[in-house]
Amino acid sequence: MRIINRTKLPKKLVHELINSISGKLSKYIKTVIIRHDKNWVCGGYYYYKEGKIVLTIGTPDEYPIYTTRQNDKFGYLKFYIRNDIESLIFLASHEIRHIFHLKISKQNWYKNAKMIDMEKDGEEILWSYKAERDADKFAIKGIKKYRETIKPHR
Ligand SMILES: [Zn+2]
Repeated sequence: MRIINRTKLPKKLVHELINSISGKLSKYIKTVIIRHDKNWVCGGYYYYKEGKIVLTIGTPDEYPIYTTRQNDKFGYLKFYIRNDIESLIFLASHEIRHIFHLKISKQNWYKNAKMIDMEKDGEEILWSYKAERDADKFAIKGIKKYRETIKPHR
């Protein structure tokens, strides 16, 4: 698994987080790219044919945010994100959960799935309400776990 960090987040931290979130599923991932994009502060894609994950996070000054602008019809959950590190954890957990859906789980998460264009940017994704809802639940759990590891400030 190759990790390409195009943000100012420390390389060591990014590698530790991606490695710990992916665990054994890392064998299904060829490349993870972490980047900024002027149009996105929290967006992820898993290109399952290429085994590539692209995570787009905001710069530190763009937080806090909520995880989604979408309404409930897509399955996404609205969750408060404090900073760029939480955004990275959220997105990596969400996209890697899709690898679990496709490669490990015996449940058919993509039954009745559709190809849709989420943001009208020409990027079509394989979408299933059930899979998106589950991936967001998993990602929120990941952030909560991370928050427990942070020492409280005075
Ligand atoms: Zn998803």
